[in-house]
Amino acid sequence: MKKWRWDQGRLDYFQFDEIKNIANALVSLNGRPIPRVNEPDTLRFILSQFSERPFAPENYRVWRNYKRVFGCQLLATEIDNQLICTDLCKEIAIEKITSDEYFLVLAQRFYYSSPVFDDYQTNDVQIFPFCAIVKFLVSRYIYKNQHFVSIDDVVNYVKGNNVIGTESISHYSQLSATGTHIANGNVELRQIREMVIFISQISFLKWKNPYLFLDVKSKEDAEFVAHIFNPTFSLRNVNPALEILNLGKKINHYETIAKFDSREMNPFDIEFSEGNKTRISHIRTERSSKLREFYFQHTSNPNHCDMCEMDTQKRYPWTDRVLELHHLLPLSSPIRFEKNSSSLKDIVGLCPSCHRATHKYYSKWFKYNDLNDFRSYQEAKNVYNEVKHKVVI
Ligand SMILES: [Zn+2]
Ligand SMILES: [Zn+2]
Repeated sequence: MKKWRWDQGRLDYFQFDEIKNIANALVSLNGRPIPRVNEPDTLRFILSQFSERPFAPENYRVWRNYKRVFGCQLLATEIDNQLICTDLCKEIAIEKITSDEYFLVLAQRFYYSSPVFDDYQTNDVQIFPFCAIVKFLVSRYIYKNQHFVSIDDVVNYVKGNNVIGTESISHYSQLSATGTHIANGNVELRQIREMVIFISQISFLKWKNPYLFLDVKSKEDAEFVAHIFNPTFSLRNVNPALEILNLGKKINHYETIAKFDSREMNPFDIEFSEGNKTRISHIRTERSSKLREFYFQHTSNPNHCDMCEMDTQKRYPWTDRVLELHHLLPLSSPIRFEKNSSSLKDIVGLCPSCHRATHKYYSKWFKYNDLNDFRSYQEAKNVYNEVKHKVVI
């Protein structure tokens, strides 16, 4: 059975915000020679201007240890000793695509055997692991009303049955247990787990160890997810570097995912989003039922508005959990990976009025500064604090 591979142990480098930093650094070195041993590591120098990550170990050239990361991310490859960025990399750097669009394109294109790894060949059957995993998850939801799968299920049912990602949902629903099991601590299991955590950044998936959740509100939405998680086939190039460029080619039709986004919007959301894809997916993230569940499980004060300090339970004693969630990071940042329970530290609970007022303030602030999103975490947090100071309690 073919091994499922990923570059493990580098989850931090696979967060979308970090991918953006990396893309910016790579773009500024596009077409330049790859720094070799004994040459100054220009890549490390440029990365340090965009990213806080160490790109350890320091005594090796970054390219040597991270080219597989950049390859899995479909950002860059090496051709004739030069660093060459993909279209996707350039689009991320100029923020032309949202995080949802990026993860979807990656899921549709990443396959085994992958040109990123040395077992690449072009005469085997292509397996699209992300499409297969998500379709299996959708089939569990539609046919069994179970909206999660574990990593063991992925190994046992998806990998074990040799599905390739193109099959129908009903096919996935009929898969039986194969008894395939990968022992804890095994590198492949770790890689599969990290792939799942990676893809869970798309706004309608959530990860809570050891489960991947489908975070949709209806079977119709679940079917839509299965419909968009379909492999893209193109003629494979025998040269792995050229194939990576091929996989990172630009696509012009991202509308499918935006259509899914605009459901369940109230007039306030519509006013805030103005049809902007980043803002729409920000709103959808905040509405996520899984996120609410995690938040209320982990917060010590589930009734207290962070903005006006109202205790909603006291004021409206008959209610439970009227707070809405507000994401403090830039609108384009997906929810971060779970790390203990502190993953939700960038989420605050706001009463519905304060939440609307905050988004209203953001709208005005963006307009005034001629921006569509915050440029950094710090800026997003500063503006939130500005709102907080201006509220009259
Ligand atoms: Zn409030
Ligand atoms: Zn909000």
